Amino acid sequence: MRERHPHPDFILWTGDDTPHVADEKLGEDAVMRIIGNLTHLIQEVFPGTKVYSAMGNHDFHPKNQFPDNYHRIYIKTAQLWKSWMDPQSIPTFNKGAFYTERLLGRTGQRIIVLNTNLYYINNKLNVGISDPAGQFKWFEEVLSNAVTAKEKVYIIGHVPPGFFEKRRGIIWFRHHFNKRYNEIVQKYHSVIAGQFFGHHHTDSFRMFYNHSGSPIGVMFIAPGVTPWKTTLPGVENGANNPGIRIFEYDTNTLEVQDMVTYYFNLSHANTVAPRWQLEYRLTEAFKVPDGTVRSMQMTLDKLYNDNYYLQKYYKYNSINYDLTECDRNCRIDQICAIKEVDFVKYGECVQRESSSSILIAQVPLISSLLLSILFLQF
Ligand SMILES: [Zn+2]
Repeated sequence: MRERHPHPDFILWTGDDTPHVADEKLGEDAVMRIIGNLTHLIQEVFPGTKVYSAMGNHDFHPKNQFPDNYHRIYIKTAQLWKSWMDPQSIPTFNKGAFYTERLLGRTGQRIIVLNTNLYYINNKLNVGISDPAGQFKWFEEVLSNAVTAKEKVYIIGHVPPGFFEKRRGIIWFRHHFNKRYNEIVQKYHSVIAGQFFGHHHTDSFRMFYNHSGSPIGVMFIAPGVTPWKTTLPGVENGANNPGIRIFEYDTNTLEVQDMVTYYFNLSHANTVAPRWQLEYRLTEAFKVPDGTVRSMQMTLDKLYNDNYYLQKYYKYNSINYDLTECDRNCRIDQICAIKEVDFVKYGECVQRESSSSILIAQVPLISSLLLSILFLQF
């Protein structure tokens, strides 16, 4: 990262710092030691650079089981990250591992760091709790104040709402949490300038719409620095190359102007030498003017209408690892995951696209039947 860009304005670190192994192989001490090691490494490589850091579901012991109130792991993590935080962020973090502050101290710009592990379907502690740690209430208050203060806001977190694009129907948030998140974005979209999440290890994005179907928000899901092969049944070759990403943004409006992704080709590293290289630049790869909501909707339209762009996106989705074709089912899974964060609408999308692609598949069959009939007549 330092070789590519030694002086970024700030760094977004979206979590999952420990190996994805059984709890018995780690333990709380190991988890804290690993988060500490990485924190020190980033501080050493980027001294003085502001880092906004969110906890991932693997940054806890036992993994995924984030409680809805003060926990020593939250308090220890806040201690590790305190040099990156404003003093008033620390008590909030101690309570539920979330916080907000002015982005780089600038007037009119804000960052919100969420702990969406509280909403994760594998978190057994928050079943039946409508608003764990009061984060939603707090989130709405911060956004409401941002509207009053005419601020622009970036939101970061680890586990994203919506669906995993590599396997149909895989969700991360519990149902009511997903609904609430979506409603909050719909209500406060005018101040939200960007949402940046992780967890997938894949490179994708999610669109948000208002009730009349107009695009109002975009969430970027960043590739992982670590390679990971998903163990979800039904996913073939679900691995990724490591990737890192630089966002270029308008420092006045916080609009995303471009996104540059670098990757590390594991096969090349294993056979020749390790090498980080440019993977793609958003505006060049998808021929869009920038990374705004409007442009990301244009990108989605291109994936939907043009197989060339869909295949290109699919290659980037695994960070240049899976170079196979994105077939009919893959297309439905990818498109509907990007388009519909809402659970009901996703189901409708899958149904609609499945029946329309059956129709498309039937067209050559119908025409060949017609041809056969015509030939027979002659
Ligand atoms: Zn994760």
